[in-house]
Amino acid sequence: MVHFVGAGPGAPDLITLRGAKLLGEAGQVIYAGSLVNPELLTYARPGVPCHDSASLTLEEVLALMEKGEEKGWDTVRLHTGDPSLYGAVREQMDALRERHIPFDVTPGVSSFSGAAAAIPAEYTLPGVSQTVILTRMPGRTPVPEGEDLSALAAHGASMALFLSTGMAGEAARHLLAGGAYRPDTPAAIVYKATWPEEKVYPCTLATLGETAEKEQITRTALILVGDFLGEEYRRSDLYNPAFSHGYRRGKEDPR
Ligand code: SAH
Repeated sequence: MVHFVGAGPGAPDLITLRGAKLLGEAGQVIYAGSLVNPELLTYARPGVPCHDSASLTLEEVLALMEKGEEKGWDTVRLHTGDPSLYGAVREQMDALRERHIPFDVTPGVSSFSGAAAAIPAEYTLPGVSQTVILTRMPGRTPVPEGEDLSALAAHGASMALFLSTGMAGEAARHLLAGGAYRPDTPAAIVYKATWPEEKVYPCTLATLGETAEKEQITRTALILVGDFLGEEYRRSDLYNPAFSHGYRRGKEDPR
């Protein structure tokens, strides 16, 4: 059986308990070496083959999985963050289905959650934004036309840009073109969230491009944008003494 496991954003203790248990039981591990912290491999039993998929094709990864099945091993396919985001897992799952190889998926802490913790920030602030847009600049993988960054930016929502730090200046231009963000809208580059090398570079949309260039950050970083990084917000109704809800009667509630 193949287990797709989310490794979390970097810190080895941010994998889930289930993910760590599966790693400990695996007969082989195939990990996305460009982003997965190699320390996670110490959860596997000594001597278990660990293959870095960075230099492998989909076909080669599948061949390893098939070999694991023949040997009766459990294969852990370790993906960075949560496998459902930019993980190229769908093509693997479909190929496994075709081959009648059973699989399951264990979610992971995505880097956008790790980045919020690094700041620390809340994406969904009352009176500021109740929406988070997870997207990227087009690279070798194109982004569908309707999801053009300037179109998404028109919402003024909280945003996390994956795979885009190498194009930060261009991203800022598209974000401003949307009309809802301002040159002084707060932004941040979060490099290697939750790793020992973690760094947060606060900036604004006007300074985003130069910040990425000056700090020479091109990979393993997220760009966060939005007024959730600013000072202004409304306090929540949920914990407001005057507000009643299913679990609590508000002080000024006549009921
Ligand atoms: N599945 C992963 C994303 C894989 S795409 C997840 O859920 O996080 C790879 C991109 O994720 C990188 O280019 C970078 O933008 C982001 N990323 C991954 N790990 C990161 C980390 N620890 N800190 C900041 N960004 C990270």
